[in-house]
Amino acid sequence: MNRKNIVIALAGNPNSGKTTIFNAITGARQHVGNYPGVTVERKEGRVKYKGHDITVIDLPGTYGLSDYSPDEVVARRVIIEEKPDILVNVVDASNLERNLYLTMQIKELEVPVIMVLNMADVAEKNKVKINYEMLSQLLGLPVIRAVGSKNEGIDEILEAVINCDSVRSSIRERQVRYRPEIEKEMSRLEEQLQSLKHLGLETAAGVDEGVSFLSTPSRWLLTGLLGNDKLVSKQIAVYKESQSFMSEVEQSRMRLNNLLGDDPEMALVEDRYAFTRGICREACQRSTLDDKLTLTEKIDNVMLNRVLGIPIFLGLMWLLFQLTFTLGSPPMDWIDAGVSTLGDWLNANMADGMLRSLLVDGIVGGVGGIIVFLPNILLLFLGIAFLEGTGYMARAAFVMDQVMHKAGLHGKSFVPMLIGFGCGVPALMASRTLENPRDRLVTMLVTPLMSCGARLPVYSILTAAFFPGQMGGNILFSIYLLGIFMAIVMARIFRTWVLPGDTEPFVMELPTYQLPTIRNILIHMWERTWLYLKKAGTILLAISILMWGLFTFPTADSRGGKWENSTVQLENSYAGQLGRAIAPVFQPLGFDWKTSVALVAGLGAKEVVVSTLGTLYSIEDEEALAGEEGESFGGFAERAREQSGYTPLVAYVLMIFTLLYVPCMAFIAVMKRETNGWKWPLFTIAYTLILAWVVSFLAYRGGLLLGIGI
Ligand code: GDP
Ligand code: MG
Repeated sequence: MNRKNIVIALAGNPNSGKTTIFNAITGARQHVGNYPGVTVERKEGRVKYKGHDITVIDLPGTYGLSDYSPDEVVARRVIIEEKPDILVNVVDASNLERNLYLTMQIKELEVPVIMVLNMADVAEKNKVKINYEMLSQLLGLPVIRAVGSKNEGIDEILEAVINCDSVRSSIRERQVRYRPEIEKEMSRLEEQLQSLKHLGLETAAGVDEGVSFLSTPSRWLLTGLLGNDKLVSKQIAVYKESQSFMSEVEQSRMRLNNLLGDDPEMALVEDRYAFTRGICREACQRSTLDDKLTLTEKIDNVMLNRVLGIPIFLGLMWLLFQLTFTLGSPPMDWIDAGVSTLGDWLNANMADGMLRSLLVDGIVGGVGGIIVFLPNILLLFLGIAFLEGTGYMARAAFVMDQVMHKAGLHGKSFVPMLIGFGCGVPALMASRTLENPRDRLVTMLVTPLMSCGARLPVYSILTAAFFPGQMGGNILFSIYLLGIFMAIVMARIFRTWVLPGDTEPFVMELPTYQLPTIRNILIHMWERTWLYLKKAGTILLAISILMWGLFTFPTADSRGGKWENSTVQLENSYAGQLGRAIAPVFQPLGFDWKTSVALVAGLGAKEVVVSTLGTLYSIEDEEALAGEEGESFGGFAERAREQSGYTPLVAYVLMIFTLLYVPCMAFIAVMKRETNGWKWPLFTIAYTLILAWVVSFLAYRGGLLLGIGI
């Protein structure tokens, strides 16, 4: 720094050793007074260091920067109005987590700050190991070790102060992220606040004290307003233009109160602690001799344990999937029965013709086929919402972080990928929690490899037909595992060649454990389910109709005659022609033209593969195809074997291909929106197609060579 006069302010919790550091820096050159209007002592001192004149202000000790006490108000006033060149955040290293709360509030003010980890001797005596490098990265500020009472670290502090230009560049980074509900309200208010700021700064330029509040960062103001900080609201309300804005704020607060079932102020505090807890778990190791552990810390010592963490995680995931599949199958059958009843009813009560065919085969069949997995998806999302509500999901991301990093993913990628087992569309939305765009992109790219609910019916019919009994379960499991494995491999590849760059460490928030409220769970479950239903109701409806058209037309041959039967008709439909045209591409995988047609049909939505196979092998009774009777599956197996040379191997390869090739069109559409363009959706289509072909080819040829399943 070229400047000769530097003003620094020491901020920190009471008893963090601020005054000790202050004395060590300034020696006897001190001046004690009072802040105007309050009985808070103001201490100022001076020091010369390497030709710089440094003024040091010892701020009152505070735990935060809200309006809870006169000390906090004074401390933040000084920071906002006197704008010291650098804030020195003195932190008690032996009590890091609690001290970081203030740090996070300071970060929101976006002032240059350096951190002094004081009481390092006490921390070391208590066997608290702090990773300074990691802490500095996670917070985006320099961290200096100090023992104020022994004058250790004082020169380093002064050195950092005069070299602090580098700090300025990162003041906007690494701030607390609040829960999505709060972030949503903040971005809702952001724009209006911006225009208010412009207006206010123009009209009142430098006249009243509110001006300095208006020039503070929006995030800080908004958390203050949403957290019901009376002084911030007062400063904003000074401007008469602010009326409509303030009523918007009030509405936001009410919405949040309603949604969170609590005052947003509590949620803001809790989210800051979730953040600091995450930092501490990442950057310090401590022996467990501390007997003042909170319940959350005690639970975390088990959940995040190096040895137990992963087994517990795997156990919970196993439970989640057991629940989803066992509880989900009876209602699935009911819905399935309902859909076919509706189809039958339409068949019985409508005149034969195009309209009936469109309704029954196109719309009811198409959309009905999608609604069938609703119970599965609801249960999976219910379980995820419950685990999120308790606070465990954040731990799962934490536990998986190391493993995920090996794959080039981030711990937080885990939740979207898990949701991907239900449906890829809400998974894309869930990946928004990844703040690093590259991490998010890689996550979005591999999410389609998680086997979503729509692929399940394809596996079900193929396993039932070709892998009877116990074998079927293992086959199904192997397909899911293959998806996960391919996701890891592809993520690694994308990280290395397509989106290279280090995965930066990011804070993973660890909220307090709690029993979630039923309301909260239901809200979260419904949000994701709704995304799925919307997809079924819009994009997939359109695709069902389109596919129906491709399979139905042309209705007559070139001479105007009717086709002899439905199979011939299908063979000559547009879809059939397309399937036959591209059949050579699939031939090396063991698929004939009929399978090719089914795969083409599945381009829009995977679930269509099943109904297409049903039509192709003229299984008249759709119910038998989807039902449980072994006989009808036997019938399907027999026909597929006779007409298309299906073997268990071919069936398995077809499952692999279905797993890997092209996410459904709804996924592509949402991905286009989330990535702002066609580049990544098209890339996803291309890579999944190639991947599916290559892996299927290897599986088929390998199987033939080894003589498995032929
Ligand atoms: P303040 O409230 O932040 O101003 O804290 P003080 O500077 O008054 O310090 C509180 C107590 O901690 C005093 O008794 C100091 O002697 C002691 N202290 C300050 N820094 C250190 C340190 O680095 N190590 C140890 N062991 N004690 C310290
Ligand atoms: Mg003091």
